[in-house]
Amino acid sequence: MIKRLLIAALVLVGCRQEPELVTEPADYVSTLVGTLSEHSFSTGNTYPAIALPWGMNFWTPVTGKMGDGWAYRYDAHHIRGFKQTHQPSPWINDYGQFAIMPVRDAEKVDQNARASWFSHHSETARPYYYQVYLADHDINVEIAPTERAASLLFTFPESETSGIIVDAYDEGSYIKVLPEKNAIIGYTTKNSGGVPENFRNWFVVKFDKPVEGYTVYDGPSKAIEGAEFEGDHALAVVTFKTARGEKVNVQTASSFISLEQAWTNFKELEGKCFTEVRDAAKARWNDVLGRIQVGGGTEDQYRTFYSCLYRSVLFPRKFYEINEDGDIVHYSPYNGEVCDGYLYTDTGFWDTFRALFPLLNLVYPSVNAEIQQGLANIARENSFLPEWASPGHRDCMVGNNSASVVADAIISGVTPEKDWQTLYDCLVYGTEHVHPEISSTGRLGHEYYNTLGYIPCDVGINESVARTLEYAYNDWCILQIAKKLGRPADEIEKWESSSDNWKNVFDPSHKLMCGRNLDGSFQEPFSPYKWGGVFTEGNAWHYTWSVFHDVEGLMEAMGGKEEFVRMLDSVFVVPPIYDDSYYGYRIHEITEMQVANMGNYAHGNQPAQHMIYLYNWAGEHHKTEKRVREVMDRLYKATPDGYCGDEDNGQTSAWYVFSALGFYPVCPASGEYAEGAPLFERFVIHRDDGSVITDFKNISL
Ligand code: CA
Repeated sequence: MIKRLLIAALVLVGCRQEPELVTEPADYVSTLVGTLSEHSFSTGNTYPAIALPWGMNFWTPVTGKMGDGWAYRYDAHHIRGFKQTHQPSPWINDYGQFAIMPVRDAEKVDQNARASWFSHHSETARPYYYQVYLADHDINVEIAPTERAASLLFTFPESETSGIIVDAYDEGSYIKVLPEKNAIIGYTTKNSGGVPENFRNWFVVKFDKPVEGYTVYDGPSKAIEGAEFEGDHALAVVTFKTARGEKVNVQTASSFISLEQAWTNFKELEGKCFTEVRDAAKARWNDVLGRIQVGGGTEDQYRTFYSCLYRSVLFPRKFYEINEDGDIVHYSPYNGEVCDGYLYTDTGFWDTFRALFPLLNLVYPSVNAEIQQGLANIARENSFLPEWASPGHRDCMVGNNSASVVADAIISGVTPEKDWQTLYDCLVYGTEHVHPEISSTGRLGHEYYNTLGYIPCDVGINESVARTLEYAYNDWCILQIAKKLGRPADEIEKWESSSDNWKNVFDPSHKLMCGRNLDGSFQEPFSPYKWGGVFTEGNAWHYTWSVFHDVEGLMEAMGGKEEFVRMLDSVFVVPPIYDDSYYGYRIHEITEMQVANMGNYAHGNQPAQHMIYLYNWAGEHHKTEKRVREVMDRLYKATPDGYCGDEDNGQTSAWYVFSALGFYPVCPASGEYAEGAPLFERFVIHRDDGSVITDFKNISL
């Protein structure tokens, strides 16, 4: 099934011993990669997620203030708490979050009063285990995750007034102390959109030390009588005396369904001491990361590779739960009901259709089978597939790339056949409608696109060329499903024809994509350096290559191989100048392009990430090799400033994972990979369906 582009396989060294494969990858991961980020400059915009792969709940230390998307910054000096988080990125922010904080002085409840100095020298950051020393409290904190619960171990100093704060955060929360159970229960409704009115994250927190006293708060500075509070901002602190070195184990779980379900989820921890939870989490990470074994690289390359693979298997996260009867159920953020079956969330398809979902299909097909069943459930729970989900529809980015995510999984044999028609019907509906409240769901501009074959740039719809290009590729993806389903010939012809719509925004005079007016003329004046406008977080140099499904056609439109290569080369040769007039300020992606010193190539954002691989189509593979190596060697590091832009829920990481293995899915849903330049001498992929891949030319999904 590998087509003409994939000429050569990895050439394994014949006469000397094969290099050893990595066997315990979890300890190569640093969860701090990408955390040295700020609003104006991203080196990942990540936080150290303490979690199991695709786990429903993550935990993170919190250096920022309540509600700040930059929850953990590497350059911060204070920790204000440890929160359960569901945040996919700082731009989308969090929902259902609440925090726990141990203190030496239980009077210090407010997030500023309770904050403590810390140092990275007294911090351990692994996926399965986090540890930090809170200097001002003289308390050591350790955290280990399960999928829906976590175990926290606090080592206290000698103190008459030790305490553990549970902060349910503001914008609507509830808390109740159950002294006889040594527990706190409650809920948080805090969110950033994408949820119905009845949204709750119900939590339970249990202490293994008898609660000697407690105080409940209506806001951080107002202690109240009684054991419970419901209002804007509920907090509680339980207090006790501690001896020096005394350990208190706090176990916590939560549910989006109910308090009862939170106690059911709590059973993930039942009978397990902290060490057992940590060791089980480590074993799980070694299993999931060990699905790709590599050998023949340097220690630094292994650190970067497995830190990237860690980021590739966090999102989309499980949003489903397992009830008392053992059934898979979920609270639906699409209709507010508790429904049967799987649901995953917290991903933006504009980013992750490119490499992250192909990686799931290649290595973790059983996981993506659940994700796809979840998408079919969403199709039953509302009219639209999500484009940016967190947890329900969020208004962010452009395109209709759910088509790519769905088609690639069907073509790869991952999606159960029973769901194909449901998914297809929902995709087709989305091509003719736009969500009434969320303009990035469905297709904004479908009326123009479906009649003219493009979205004009002068009819009040922004980013019209980006939308047109992505809809054309999305139509090609829908075509692949239509063929699988054996849809009628006229329907097949319709998708075939609209897959060519990219041609309608290609301006032959510039050999670049360009805005097109309603009257058919191209937009003037034109600048290939202008970000935004008719494009999304990029310029014409970046977006012209978004013809994933017809690279040959694009080459022909440009005038042949030589012109195509000249245009590709130009992206790297032109200076990193820019026009930011559409935004009115320099967006962080522009700065990230400039500092990379690769001309106008912008690896820090998604539109250009497949571009280097296009040299293959023109027979200039050596240029792919050279540039792909440069990006791997210079723009990825296992350090806190390790990414060259937003990591974006596994997408930028999955680029590295594929590239390090020596190939890349330029066109998801095609079943093809383009050849790159492998970083490692050998790899073994142990697919979670039991099959093994050691050579990409033999991949047959
Ligand atoms: Ca991005």
